[in-house]
Parts: sequence; structure tokens; C-alpha cells
Amino acid sequence: MFVEPHLNQLENKVGWIEVVCGSMFSGKTEELIRRMNRAKIAKQKVEIFKPSIDTRYDEVNVVSHNANAIRSTPVQSSSEIYMLAGDCDVVGIDEAQFFDNQIVEVCTQLANHGKRVIIAGLDMDFQGKPFGAMPELMTIAEFVTKVQAICMQCGRIAAYSYRLVSAETTVLLGEKESYEPRCRKCFNEGMKEQEKSRIKNHELREKSITGKSITN
Ligand SMILES: [Zn+2]
Repeated sequence: MFVEPHLNQLENKVGWIEVVCGSMFSGKTEELIRRMNRAKIAKQKVEIFKPSIDTRYDEVNVVSHNANAIRSTPVQSSSEIYMLAGDCDVVGIDEAQFFDNQIVEVCTQLANHGKRVIIAGLDMDFQGKPFGAMPELMTIAEFVTKVQAICMQCGRIAAYSYRLVSAETTVLLGEKESYEPRCRKCFNEGMKEQEKSRIKNHELREKSITGKSITN
């Protein structure tokens, strides 16, 4: 478990960046909230920001599954975080994968100005590809924690968010029924199955179109 390295450095205005990443259902937000709560106990001023695109939960609170809520502020862009962070000692950022690329510069500047920045986000999208600015954020961070879920197919450690419904857009927000955590093996098998059924559907469509043109 992550233990804060040197909280007293904040008094000397030396900041740093932490990233908590992983798949859906891996407990990223819970870990973010755990760290924020510990900072609060240490009498530090904390605030969480999240992209306003994430409206799964209520507007002003980051609500994790254990209902240990911390107030948070929805923002339209990453530059808003910089403006609103003000006198915070610890800046939390949730669902960081949905922010624009400027989030990298924003986090750098916040840390340079003596703030502890804790970023939580999905490291991979539903195709298993790096998600948004997360790779860069992991690179510039002093500390990276990858949390794991459990594969719903076989019970192994899961690092992938497998999408159960097919849709064309990448930003399909994480409703529980649309995704499940999967291990590498089960994720790859699922993706193969989806590809097969896509080809089959395509062939069926082609057939019906050709069939129609013959009757015409
Ligand atoms: Zn599995």
C-alpha cells in the first residue's frame, strides 16, 4: 500500500505528482479518496477536480463505492484546475483520462508550485490502448501505482476494461452493466469473439444488400 513519502515537504513548498491508474472496478477512486482523507487528517487543504463529462454520480461529490465521499468540483477543461487550485496543499484529479492534453502542463505547474498532485484515471481504453494523457502523466509522476481488478471470467488479476456492448465511440461512460474487468487472456478472447461477430454481421449486411439489388 502506498505510504506518503515525506508529507512535511509540503511545508517547504516542494510538490510532487502521484498517479493511481488501472482498469474499471480496480479501486482507483477509492485509493484517491483514501490518500485525500489522510491529507485532510494531516490538516492539509484538499480539493478534487473531475471532468464535467463524468455525470454518473452526483455533481459536487466524488462518490466512491464505499460512499466515503469527498467534495469535488466538476470542471470543463484542465486549465480551470490551475485557476481553481488556489491555496490547496493537495490537488486530486479524478477520471484524468477524459481531460485535454494540457492536463500534463497543469499538473507540472501545480507540482512546481509546491502542491502535491494526485491523479486517478483509466490507463487503457476499452480496446486496451493507452487512454488520453495518462501515459504522459505516468511519465512525469514521481509515484505511479497501478491497481488491479479481478477478472469476472476466471478470477485472475484484471488490467483490462472489457466492453460488453458494441458501440462506435470511445467515450462511453462506465456504466457497470456495459463493462467488466478482464485479465489479458479473457480480454483477448472476448475481442476475438467480437471481431468474428462483426465480420459475420458485415457479411450478412452485404448479402442482404446484394440480394435486394438482384430483385430490383
Ligand atoms: Zn480472465
